[in-house]
Amino acid sequence: MDVSTMTIKEALEKMNSGDLTSEELVKSYLDRIEAGNEHVNAFVFVAEDVLEQAREIDKRRAVGEDVGVLGGIPIAVKDNMLVEGWGSASGSQILEGHKGAYNATVIDRLKNAGAILMGRANMDEFAMGSSTESSHFGATTNPWDKTKVPGGSSGGSAAAVAAGFVPVALGSDTGGSIRQPASLCGVVGLKPTYGRVSRYGLMAMASSLDQIGPITRSVEDAAIVLEVIEGKDPHDGTSVELSNTTVPALIDKDLTGMKLGLPKEYFVDGMDEGVKAAVMEAVEELKRAGAEIIDISLPHAQYALAAYYIIMPAEASSNLGRFDGLRYGYHSNGENLQESYARTRGEGFGPEVKRRIMLGSYTLSAGYYDAYYRKALKVRSLIKKDFDEALKEVDAIVTPTSPSVAWGIGEKFNDPLTMYLSDIYTISANLATIPALSVPCGFVKNLPVGLQFMGRPFDEYTLFKLGAAYQERTDWHTKTPS
Ligand code: GLN
Repeated sequence: MDVSTMTIKEALEKMNSGDLTSEELVKSYLDRIEAGNEHVNAFVFVAEDVLEQAREIDKRRAVGEDVGVLGGIPIAVKDNMLVEGWGSASGSQILEGHKGAYNATVIDRLKNAGAILMGRANMDEFAMGSSTESSHFGATTNPWDKTKVPGGSSGGSAAAVAAGFVPVALGSDTGGSIRQPASLCGVVGLKPTYGRVSRYGLMAMASSLDQIGPITRSVEDAAIVLEVIEGKDPHDGTSVELSNTTVPALIDKDLTGMKLGLPKEYFVDGMDEGVKAAVMEAVEELKRAGAEIIDISLPHAQYALAAYYIIMPAEASSNLGRFDGLRYGYHSNGENLQESYARTRGEGFGPEVKRRIMLGSYTLSAGYYDAYYRKALKVRSLIKKDFDEALKEVDAIVTPTSPSVAWGIGEKFNDPLTMYLSDIYTISANLATIPALSVPCGFVKNLPVGLQFMGRPFDEYTLFKLGAAYQERTDWHTKTPS
């Protein structure tokens, strides 16, 4: 049985009709992980009790019990989400030996829905990066070409799905970390609207931008998983009571009369010609499916990257202040408390994390706060306004997810500015708090290209509709790396 291309939907159908057991499914994935993970390094930990859990679900299913919406489906979890009793390090040495004391809300919801937690997926240290090279556990490679990066920071999650190690993984997205690796690995990634999914138990990077979301093979699978993890959570005051759910079974794929905006600011120099061609071809396909394409303008888009790289480090520098080495994780002794803090943080954090702590502390300090931080917040409001205006006119906006396909390991690692530029198309959705979906739309030199849809707040449904219609008409998402 080839599970590498199987969707959640297909696996559930097979299990419900008795053609497949969860034990067989999980065993097949474990075999693939066993054979392939040493090359990909997508998993930094695989749970030992997964077959046991699968057998338990099989038993319950066999006697007609309700085993949940994801009954018996294995899922990978990014290393920055707490699972009770599991190690949880956010890819950092400073959390060496740290164990989750409780489950993140998304984890509780997955377990209640019958999902089997397969293991921890690799990531850039504290989710800071676009290549999954900065992890304390070593780099993850791209399943399409192991000399290339998988994107980041949820590179382990995206690579695990692309390599057929699991049908679904959770990622987190602060500036593109679900969508960009999904794009570079040829799978689907959704960043939900800010507030749609609880952040309780997610290690905070930039609290006003972070969202958890699914990485899957099909858009419908992303909808199935979103419906399980979304919704109000008393532990996260920014989570929202939802009036609409995604109703995955009922995704209507008729695009007749839909209006799609093509922002002129996104199709400028710096974009790979092959990526541009693939995206424009996808736009033609959407037209053939009935959508009307409208040229739009997002005048402040050009300032998004600069605003993000002020706001995100400011919040991150504050969030990372809690890692003092005293209560958990890595600890280094010093002559006094101050020295112990300095040593612990100096040795425990990697260079990119330190860089952002310094940038953030600088822009928040007296004298620079107004010039940088406050100004960036004003720019953020203008960017949000651009999207609000544009989305009055169109149902969704379509762009590339990333300006290039996967690049070589090591190629941008010592050049942070070039690395930051790879987030140019994804960060605006976080600043504007709107939902965004990446769907595979072609290849450039055998490396996957991603198409991004951005929509109105809490209108994930429209993105699913667009993505599912596109996937019905194309077969990019069915291709797998050798
Ligand atoms: N690559 C971006 C960064 O380095 C986004 C990270 C993220 O979304 N977690 O900040």
